[in-house]
Amino acid sequence: MGKTYIFGHKNPDTDSIVSSIVMADFEKKLGNSEAIACRLGNINKETEFVLQYTGVKAPELIEDLEDGAEVIMVDTANVAEVIPNLDNVKIKRIVDHHQVLLHTAYPLFYRAEPVGCTETIMYKLYKEYGLEIDKTIATLMLSAIISDTLLFKSPTCTEDDKKAAKELTQIAELDYEVYGMEMLKAGTDLSSFSIEEILNLDAKANEFKGVKAIVAQVNTASIPEVMKMKTELEVGIQKIIAERQLDLFMLLITDIIESNTQTIAMGNRADIVEKAYHVKLEDNTAFLEGVVSRKKQVIPVITENA
Ligand code: MG
Ligand code: MG
Ligand code: MG
Repeated sequence: MGKTYIFGHKNPDTDSIVSSIVMADFEKKLGNSEAIACRLGNINKETEFVLQYTGVKAPELIEDLEDGAEVIMVDTANVAEVIPNLDNVKIKRIVDHHQVLLHTAYPLFYRAEPVGCTETIMYKLYKEYGLEIDKTIATLMLSAIISDTLLFKSPTCTEDDKKAAKELTQIAELDYEVYGMEMLKAGTDLSSFSIEEILNLDAKANEFKGVKAIVAQVNTASIPEVMKMKTELEVGIQKIIAERQLDLFMLLITDIIESNTQTIAMGNRADIVEKAYHVKLEDNTAFLEGVVSRKKQVIPVITENA
């Protein structure tokens, strides 16, 4: 058996990193000893906290793979978010909880469910295959579920996510509220990043109805704290818009305590944001009450209003 490379999306979040590690464990338990957890970008502060807590090493950083390599994709099914030569590798499996944005010329194991986190699906797979989840794996899985659902407060969170998290909490033997808040707060530390890095930490490119957009998100415990950098952020956004010829760049500054978002939206189609949320952008910014989920409360809403 050759090597199997496992990766999530670029600008990896905790779910993408954890999913590659967990999938490697899953594959090994199924007898594939050459499953390798990989990542397509830097580890963020929140994930760093999780890896330090569990003592697990970060997946191997890769940029591309040889043609013909066998791969498993987790937490993404978006061709634009992964390796450049996806058409020339062999996808063995996909486990994901996003839109289906690829097709293949061959059959593969594809498991997608509209749940809050990839790890909720992985949890089900371990059960279905009768595999044991050890304490470290349980802690990793739980961390990803807390991250993607913002401690079960995001509208993307389902009963399945809550059920998986409850059982994983028992195996992990930790107080998920205390641990989860500490983990989320670790992710709000932007102090070591440049403006360019902040804008790229969790950015997703989207194209809809002829609109080229990037929606980036940062978590914070204090919106005013991040807004102190507004002028610099605007300069950085303007630069990205020019370089990538975007119609819209939307930065979501999401308050993880109060579950709201302040957005900075720029570009020749910033009007979409005004229309979508019935707000007026003042100096490129508006408050979006109750908005926390890019996947559920932003991408579909701006797509519809484009
Ligand atoms: Mg993700
Ligand atoms: Mg995810
Ligand atoms: Mg996310």
